[in-house]
Amino acid sequence: MTDQGRIDGRTKLIGLTATPIGHSLSPAMHNMSFRELGLNYVYMAFEVDNKQLEDVVTGFRALNLRGFNVSMPNKTKILPLLDELTDGARFAGAVNTVLNDNGKLIGYNTDGIGYFRSLKENHIDVKGKKITLLGAGGAATAIAIQAALEGVKEISIFNRDDEYFNRAENNTVIINEKMEGDCIANVYRLEDKKTLKEEIAASDILTNATGVGMKPLEGQALVPDPSWLRPELIVSDVVYIPRKTKLLEMAETVGCQAINGLGMMLWQGAAAFELWTGQEMPVEYVKNQMF
Ligand code: NAD
Repeated sequence: MTDQGRIDGRTKLIGLTATPIGHSLSPAMHNMSFRELGLNYVYMAFEVDNKQLEDVVTGFRALNLRGFNVSMPNKTKILPLLDELTDGARFAGAVNTVLNDNGKLIGYNTDGIGYFRSLKENHIDVKGKKITLLGAGGAATAIAIQAALEGVKEISIFNRDDEYFNRAENNTVIINEKMEGDCIANVYRLEDKKTLKEEIAASDILTNATGVGMKPLEGQALVPDPSWLRPELIVSDVVYIPRKTKLLEMAETVGCQAINGLGMMLWQGAAAFELWTGQEMPVEYVKNQMF
């Protein structure tokens, strides 16, 4: 069925705000899912900078959108414009999904949820496990906060000495002091290679949540050589272009389970889709169509 035939007077609109927006895979992913399930929804992307965001949210409220996604640079700016935040969004300080619950706008962060659903899809149970996490930007913060919510025992965060290092420290304070639960967070400088090697050796999972491995840093990895890895270590990367980063290549040569960022991208969308429609996204169908 064409979208034209599908849209009628009852069609519900789901939005996406970001700039730039043209490259986003979300409109295709959600619209093909609505079509596949015969749901009367449509997903539209809107080019929105931070200056316009308040007006846009007011407009979305007035039009009674069922929900919307929020991407860069709006993910933090949106916080005070919403009525309620989940713990994942509040502690991460960022929202990527909004649900309009009878006029109340609730902010979620499904990036972290998506990452852990992707691990679950790969039969990985993270409860009681130790993770070494590289990075403290948007993706890494969502993963660190969700790790604590998922029952991860310990998380060692490494960041290079740049403007994100403070955020790495801040994420550690949030996990250790503000969040309930027993997760312990440690913070180290990425330049401290001795500690990085030791922490990887003591971890169950190694996660790259930096852009190292994708353009313009394609072919690079923050782990210098495969001898730092061992077959029982699970190695994951948030990067999905290329599908196999240098880190994942190394992991495969050692015999590690290696997981790229496609699952995180897909499952963050699936979690949002469920919030808006109350139905599961047809994930296998989307995978076959898109990847
Ligand atoms: P960001 O700008 O918020 O954070 C960047 C992080 O990378 C920081 O921790 C920074 O210190 C680190 N970094 C950058 N260059 C580095 C280098 N040369 N050496 C060491 N560390 C370096 O970015 P983000 O939004 O968190 O995105 C990070 C990556 O995650 C990108 O590749 C992005 O495409 C990917 N991502 C994937 C998904 C997904 O669904 N799979 C979702 C969000 C982001």
